[in-house]
Amino acid sequence: MGLTGIQIYKLLPQTNCKDCGEPTCLAFAMKLAAGKADISLCPYVSEESKAKLSEATAPPIREFTIGTGDGMVKVGGETVMFRHEKTFFNPTPIAVMVKDSESDDAISAKLSKISSICFERVGKKLCVDMVFAKNEADGAKFMALLDKVAATNKPFVIASDNLETLKQAAEKYKDKKPMLYAATLANADAIAEIAKATGLSVVAKGNGLDEVSQVTSKLLAAGVKDIAIDSTPKNFKDALKDNVFARRASIKQKVKEVGFPTFNVISDYAKDGMMEAVIASGLIAQYAGIVVISEPDPAKILPITVSRMNVFTDPQRPMVVEQGIYPINNPDENSPVIITVNFALTYFIVSAEIEASRVPCWLMIMDTEGLSVLTAWSAGKFVADAMAIYVKKTDITQKVKHRKIIIPGYVAQLSGEFQEELGEGWEVQIGPREAADLPKFLKMWKL
Ligand code: SF4
Repeated sequence: MGLTGIQIYKLLPQTNCKDCGEPTCLAFAMKLAAGKADISLCPYVSEESKAKLSEATAPPIREFTIGTGDGMVKVGGETVMFRHEKTFFNPTPIAVMVKDSESDDAISAKLSKISSICFERVGKKLCVDMVFAKNEADGAKFMALLDKVAATNKPFVIASDNLETLKQAAEKYKDKKPMLYAATLANADAIAEIAKATGLSVVAKGNGLDEVSQVTSKLLAAGVKDIAIDSTPKNFKDALKDNVFARRASIKQKVKEVGFPTFNVISDYAKDGMMEAVIASGLIAQYAGIVVISEPDPAKILPITVSRMNVFTDPQRPMVVEQGIYPINNPDENSPVIITVNFALTYFIVSAEIEASRVPCWLMIMDTEGLSVLTAWSAGKFVADAMAIYVKKTDITQKVKHRKIIIPGYVAQLSGEFQEELGEGWEVQIGPREAADLPKFLKMWKL
């Protein structure tokens, strides 16, 4: 069980020096107990207390990394049941299964797709994160597959039922920090030896969560800490039930044996690729640590990664872009000027439409704290006087020789007041309500 605020307070220096950013040691202790601060913020706590506190204040779901370098993924580390309580920290990695029983051509084609599929949405890259390399043929074929997988630089999972093959592969690729699949009741001790010798993370697999917790108990007793759990569900309903149960047990009851990211091999039971995408999105919402699908199909990867993105954004912090003037399509002094808000989705949709129109434009992005056009208007952040102050503060009048500015059609009612606030010589024009109508509007725009 975790420590209470008072128990944590007793382990702190109790000098109230404020160096941690809190007014008193007690306030800091309360934050630590609530999982809202890190012990490293107090530079004066003793090593002994730090060790006790680190364990007591560690997230209820073990956090660890897989892979190395730029592609490395972090899993686990979650502290709440619901996104509105705090936030979810580590986006669920999407792994694609590649088997050594597939033909060389099929393997190469799959790996090349895994490396190349990447979408950009609101400034973020949405890609395939990992490879699940599965051993079905002989050891030599599996090692040949792993050579190709390792060359992609994606983090990967070494999956083999053959202990010797798993050991050999773990030794050979340990510097790339892959994950081992899987420890079971029958082989947990032997897998624990391999994991300890190589420092690799392990998936504990069992028939249901009860069996999984027996496997994790063995691994923990052997000193293996970086574990993910696979309860081998036979359908979506069981997978969801196990994910929810594991999350609830680890966060609410502090059950250590299931306090690990869940490992969801969806390709084992989904009927087809489309169902895999639907199930993956559902399980990411509750509470998949890693998902494995069968094909690197862009039509499935996009919806899965977009739904993941929606789940793993911080609900308390709107996605924003920086305030400023963005030149699009090489504008000059005769190009139109458009003003809008700094909500990231608005920016990326509007800028994409301007780009598609091929009309050179100056896009003025005003800081509205990440609110969309209508919300910012009703909150008094995208209103005539504030907009005029912002426009006058910028050097837009050095960039263009005209004094025309286009506002979103949704705030057409602002045009008169905005023009008045800007002063003589300015003309406020009303743009379309929908960004999709911008290309047509811009093509007809005249100085
Ligand atoms: Fe107390 Fe440490 Fe914070 Fe100082 S930095 S107030 S000693 S908890």
